[in-house]
Amino acid sequence: MNGLMMDRPLLISSLLVHAEGQHGEREIVSRRVEGDIHRMTYKDLGRRARQLARAVAALGVKPGDRVGTLAWNGHRHLELYYAVSGSGAVLHTLNPRLHPDQLTWIADHAEDQVLFFDLTFLPLIEAIASRVKTVRHFVAMTDRAHMPETTKIPNLLCYEELVAAQPDDFVWPEFDERTASSLCYTSGTTGNPKGVLYSHRSTLLHTFAAALHDALDVSSADTILPVVPMFHVNAWGLPYVACMVGAKLVFPGPALDGKSLHDLFEAEGVTVSAGVPTVWQGLLTHVEGNNLKFSTMRRTIIGGSACPPAMMDAFQQRHDVKVLHAWGMTETSPVGTTAALKPVHASLDADQRRALQLKQGRTVFGVEMKIVDVNGQPLPHDGKTSGELMVRGPWIASGYFKGEAQGALVDGWFPTGDVATIDADGFMNITDRSKDVIKSGGEWIGSIDLENIAMAHPAVAMAACIAARHPKWDERPLLIVVKKPGAEVTRDELLQFYEGKIARWWTPDDVIFVDSIPLGATGKMQKSLLRDAYQDHLIASDKVPSSKEAA
Ligand code: ADP
Repeated sequence: MNGLMMDRPLLISSLLVHAEGQHGEREIVSRRVEGDIHRMTYKDLGRRARQLARAVAALGVKPGDRVGTLAWNGHRHLELYYAVSGSGAVLHTLNPRLHPDQLTWIADHAEDQVLFFDLTFLPLIEAIASRVKTVRHFVAMTDRAHMPETTKIPNLLCYEELVAAQPDDFVWPEFDERTASSLCYTSGTTGNPKGVLYSHRSTLLHTFAAALHDALDVSSADTILPVVPMFHVNAWGLPYVACMVGAKLVFPGPALDGKSLHDLFEAEGVTVSAGVPTVWQGLLTHVEGNNLKFSTMRRTIIGGSACPPAMMDAFQQRHDVKVLHAWGMTETSPVGTTAALKPVHASLDADQRRALQLKQGRTVFGVEMKIVDVNGQPLPHDGKTSGELMVRGPWIASGYFKGEAQGALVDGWFPTGDVATIDADGFMNITDRSKDVIKSGGEWIGSIDLENIAMAHPAVAMAACIAARHPKWDERPLLIVVKKPGAEVTRDELLQFYEGKIARWWTPDDVIFVDSIPLGATGKMQKSLLRDAYQDHLIASDKVPSSKEAA
């Protein structure tokens, strides 16, 4: 017997209709590419998104067509989020940090029909405009006064003119909630990029879960500044969550340096923010170097790569900003787990609580996870045994756009490529990505632990630990370090710093000091490039016998 409840579809447009009706006066503040600070309300957002939906349709975009964006976090990008998905087309957020060849490949693969871009990315658009095969219109996200002079972009249109030319009477269509809503390609650290295609249903369910107290924990009282880009897994869902709860939104635009971010936090009374560790490093350096404080920030969500313990301590102990460590992937929408403590942890001492907060945490409702061995057999949740992390749930990818990497699932579970432990309380801890793990003498060494120890040294700004080839042990850990400006530390001092903190045979075999570590398009260390450059370092420098032998 079926229940007798209305079968209303879960559609992204309903988030906007709700925000406009219930939180119409709430503000959306954007630092724009043009240099100004722009202010609008959710009422304005609703009106402009309806005008834009008409404009997009007038450009010939039909339901299911892909509309690309190359844009920072800002109000126009938000308008596109709602106008494109809300009208039944698919918003394809491209990552502007990719190489023009990769962008061309991705836009062609997605068959983008229209490409909207922020002025910052004019040179990028000029480089690809004649190469992308399916794009019929390019739209500069600005007003007439700031339109660029260029002959290299055919069919160049002005965003504000398109919007202004349309009435705001568009009615959001109703359709099947399983319809595709947005598309985001993984950064393709292995093989070609793969398109993750979200649906209205998956997005709405993810939004409900992400807003929960033990997840991103936001309400109408909050002012959210998403540092995580809107081209990186939909800014972790915050543009949708903000509309659902009626939070004030603050967008940093292109200015992601510590000073610009801190100025905006203070000027707009930001209470919650979210981003990858590399961004927070810049912010903390600015705040601590200039003796500043956070007067309104209460929480920051850190994920995308492991939150270094030193960073968590800086926020929580010195600045009274609570850190919520979270784990997810493009394929998981992304919220999968958060390290929100449970009442049972209240009796733990501060060190034990900190250790739990540093794990990637427990699942939000809707996501299930398990760890398996190389034969796919489930492993115990004892906090010690590590295996490949598998997840499933209604906002986890079941495959990739156009069937790339067919058979992505194993028995209905998505293999994450992460190596993790799960403890009896359900707290998951990532020890490595399977391709970064260091296989030494048949045993695994997790690079994240080794990096976290190095990062806790006062002279270290950034540290990556990679597998270097070794004649006897196959692989041994090699530490690559960027020193803080003006700070000094020697190889031996750094290696001594590991003593007592880790099994001796885990100690890196050598340290290489570099000026910078390459970051990928989503702000993560590109360890594959470091491996290419340094994997023969130990063999070449004859750094054997290794520390394992000494242990
Ligand atoms: P990619 O980096 O491959 O482009 P994503 O941006 O989707 O893909 O990143 C997903 C990966 O990032 C996860 O599989 C995991 O390895 C890593 N990751 C995400 N959050 C965390 C975290 N809190 N701690 C450690 N690793 C994380």
